[in-house]
Amino acid sequence: MEYYDSSTVLYLNGQFIKSAEAKTDLYGQSMHYGYAVFEGIKSYHTHNGTRIFKAKEHYDRLQRSAELMHIPFPFDKNELIKQTYKLLEKNNLKDAYIRPLVYCGTNMSLSQATESSIVIMAWEWGAYLGCKLQRVCISSYQRPNPKSIHIEAKASGNYINSILATTEAKNKGFDEALLLDIDNNVAEASGANIFIEKGGKLYTPSLGSILPGITRATVIKLCKTLDIDCIEKKISVEELKNADSAFFCGTAAEIIGIACIDDTIFPATWTETLGATIQRTYKALVLEKQNYEVII
Ligand code: PMP
Repeated sequence: MEYYDSSTVLYLNGQFIKSAEAKTDLYGQSMHYGYAVFEGIKSYHTHNGTRIFKAKEHYDRLQRSAELMHIPFPFDKNELIKQTYKLLEKNNLKDAYIRPLVYCGTNMSLSQATESSIVIMAWEWGAYLGCKLQRVCISSYQRPNPKSIHIEAKASGNYINSILATTEAKNKGFDEALLLDIDNNVAEASGANIFIEKGGKLYTPSLGSILPGITRATVIKLCKTLDIDCIEKKISVEELKNADSAFFCGTAAEIIGIACIDDTIFPATWTETLGATIQRTYKALVLEKQNYEVII
């Protein structure tokens, strides 16, 4: 089973139903135009029980994405969090990936949605990018112009850009793509944000052409706690390639080191980088084990 089997249930508009029996209308804007918003959330099996990491932040972003896209969001976020815990319990999931999707009703026109549905699904998913250092290429695809769409919304249609970029990267023999913004500055990966380390400091692209990652915000906070200087700024490809080390971060990817960008190999040994420290601290945070050392 990759995503569901005959016993899996999902949450749809207030009810739990069998995933195999769930139906959707094919005459809708979400299917045809990618006009929908979603989230990617993770739960962890911690010593305090199953915990959904940053549940509020994710459902807040889901609402904000819907508002930016003019998709109705008539849902109570606290109730959604409660139902997400129930969904995990019903499917006997502890370490899980959770996918809420807000999609639109029957309508084939290019007008704003007047009806929406929410579905929440969950399944077991290992680290999205694996745990090996990533071999990354600079994509020939740019992130979309922030004046043509809302780049800060996690909108389904935006992910066509991500699929094109990862397909190109994999066809070229790389693990992942790094996309630039319309000014050719570093933006983000297909589904993760990026940090670079140079001279004992961390740098990450400022907001504007990237998804404002919840993990990115968590890393910035961790830096404050750990007394690491972390600067948000525009980063050129040259600065990136001159960095000592770099890493991606995202809910599904967590913190994962980057071995090289195109044919430029980062000189620092991963285990000695600030990224590795952040990786350990992040793991401890999601597992609610801040007072313990964790083994990666
Ligand atoms: N950028 C993109 C394009 C993404 O899809 C994701 C994953 N949601 C991220 C960054 C990281 O965001 P987060 O840390 O909130 O998962």
